[in-house]
Amino acid sequence: MKTKYKVIIDEERCKGCVLCVISCPRKILKKSEKYNSKGHHFVEVVNEMKCSGCNYCYIMCPDIAIGILKND
Ligand code: SF4
Ligand code: SF4
Repeated sequence: MKTKYKVIIDEERCKGCVLCVISCPRKILKKSEKYNSKGHHFVEVVNEMKCSGCNYCYIMCPDIAIGILKND
């Protein structure tokens, strides 16, 4: 089933500050166990189906590492 919104994380830009995780009212994001090439635990999407497209995560990210797209 297609999700209403697509949550895009740029794993290489993400520094794992978790501002987006804290700001997401639907608890869709979490810090990964994996590392990017800079040694940061990047953020991953847990349950995209629940995304409301509120954009709080996008607004909070200081590194422009997250984006929300509306699926057609
Ligand atoms: S757009 Fe809103 S609901 Fe979706 S991941 Fe970002 S903060 Fe969470
Ligand atoms: S706010 Fe941005 S840099 Fe910080 S963890 Fe989220 S996506 Fe990564």
